[in-house]
Amino acid sequence: MKQYIEWPLQESDITSEVCEACGARCCTIALPMPFTDDRKIEWFNTVVDRLDGVKALDNGLYSFTCGYLGEDNRCTIYETRPQMCRDYNCVAWTKVNGQDFSVMNHVLESIGLEPIDPDAGKGLY
Ligand code: SF4
Ligand code: SF4
Repeated sequence: MKQYIEWPLQESDITSEVCEACGARCCTIALPMPFTDDRKIEWFNTVVDRLDGVKALDNGLYSFTCGYLGEDNRCTIYETRPQMCRDYNCVAWTKVNGQDFSVMNHVLESIGLEPIDPDAGKGLY
């Protein structure tokens, strides 16, 4: 049975300095294939090679990097960015998700902390 673990970071620890060290990991998201039809799947797999900021991952998901992310890893539409971007906090998201530690572990490693072992427990506090 999984044990609860203590989180190495809390929501309030996500400062602009941490975001800078992290390199805007949350502005790239992984999504599943949007089609089930074989012809559309072949078409999609072909066109993603030429789409800026989109790439096929080894695990069958597709990685999308926001086109508004600047080369300096800062949002180029910061003042008018979508509400979801304003609300997002990677600690809160990982706590709610409870299973996908990929973003959190990237952040932790970026600031020199040990990553969370996904098998160690389910973090809730
Ligand atoms: S993943 Fe977290 S630390 Fe990284 S940019 Fe997003 S909110 Fe900031
Ligand atoms: S709009 Fe800005 S904050 Fe939102 S995902 Fe794009 S670059 Fe990131």
